[in-house]
Amino acid sequence: MDLSTFDPLDPLAESPERRQLRDTVRTLVRDFSPHAHTQALDDAEQFDDALYEQLAAMGVLAIDAPEDVGGIGDLRDQLVVIEELAAGPTSMAAFLIVQFMIIQVLRGYASTPQQHVVLEQLVRGETKVSFSMSEPDGGTDVARAMKTRATKIDSGWRINGTKLWTSGATRAEWLIVIARTREPERSSIDGVTMFLVPTAATGVTVREIDTLGIHGMSTCEVSFDDVHVGHDALIGVEHAGFRQAFATLNREGLNAAAACIGVGRGALEYAANYANQREVFGKVIGAFQVPQHWLADGAVRLEAARSLASRAAAIEVAGGNAELLAQMAKLVASEAAQHITLSGMQLMGGFGFSRELPMQRWFRDVRLWSFAPLNNEMVRNRIGERLLGLPRSY
Ligand SMILES: Cc1cc2nc3c(=O)[nH]c(=O)nc-3n(C[C@H](O)[C@H](O)[C@H](O)COP(=O)(O)OP(=O)(O)OC[C@H]3O[C@@H](n4cnc5c(N)ncnc54)[C@H](O)[C@@H]3O)c2cc1C
Repeated sequence: MDLSTFDPLDPLAESPERRQLRDTVRTLVRDFSPHAHTQALDDAEQFDDALYEQLAAMGVLAIDAPEDVGGIGDLRDQLVVIEELAAGPTSMAAFLIVQFMIIQVLRGYASTPQQHVVLEQLVRGETKVSFSMSEPDGGTDVARAMKTRATKIDSGWRINGTKLWTSGATRAEWLIVIARTREPERSSIDGVTMFLVPTAATGVTVREIDTLGIHGMSTCEVSFDDVHVGHDALIGVEHAGFRQAFATLNREGLNAAAACIGVGRGALEYAANYANQREVFGKVIGAFQVPQHWLADGAVRLEAARSLASRAAAIEVAGGNAELLAQMAKLVASEAAQHITLSGMQLMGGFGFSRELPMQRWFRDVRLWSFAPLNNEMVRNRIGERLLGLPRSY
């Protein structure tokens, strides 16, 4: 069973080159990250260095980077790679969502020396960068809640504050930090600035947080105690940090949708195989109508998500702005994957509960994308306001 394609004549079907990329990553996952290996790393809460090195060697870490630093491919290739990884080692898909978002920020706003120092190493797999925006007092409403401040001094900037939920910070050499640099004006998103901060800078403390899922990548609290950086740490335009961060939301949302499609597909194939083999009352579980309908609904929702994501990606690659379609894709994909993994857990009974089998890991991991990068309630708010012309509800 392969639920990644329906019909080669589909106008949204992927090119032979992209199909080959999919097959290559799928083979890599099969050989390097079988379920038992992924579960062992999940239990040990360890990043998969060997898989990361393979992805670097394949050039995957450089997808959509500028050509002069070795970039290849575009957003549609990112979606394929993330989907294939999410169906297996989901944490590596989560890591790549951050990697691709950082590439987008640096290619869009980093100075030439910053690109030279960081972006070139990032795409070769020689350095890692994390993104610190969310704070203890708020992620969704981070503009209002932000307490981290950067104060200008003669030699550069001094940063103080605490960030929460920064992915991968224990392994990162660099942090992109969003800090308030001017008091907020009413109804303005300006007044915060992006900085490139070495994790090793004096005053930076990283503390790992124990989380439900995505155990193959750390989730961290990062504190800044009088951290000094030079003027050259500023990324892009002073006070425009939110605009720069929000510009990545469409693609980050689409990459999150791809991760959910990957989890949903992996879980659906697994559940359907299980339902075809496990017998109760003299027939396989899949012969009963209720579990069959759960799985059929999962297949429909997954396909709807895939169509939305393909359409939104095509618009983005053509230079358009697929904002609402991208958010719709993330919404539909995350809800599809949650439906599928919950159904999978139910129809597998006690085996769903076993940590030796992957269903529970998919079930845990995919929860992330119901509230990140933007929670599904806010996605609905935006659709209500911007598509349907309803009053702003928040
Ligand atoms: C594993 C993990 C990795 C992460 N990685 C990063 C990272 O690398 N960098 C980073 O900056 N952040 C990261 N985050 C943070 C993530 O982006 C936030 O968790 C997310 O934005 C939600 O913010 P919050 O957790 O503060 O929830 P809150 O903002 O407190 O929202 C909680 C809930 O309230 C409801 N809600 C909020 N606003 C509305 C509204 N307007 N209307 C209706 N309902 C609403 C929603 O149900 C929402 O889920 C990560 C989080 C996790 C758990």
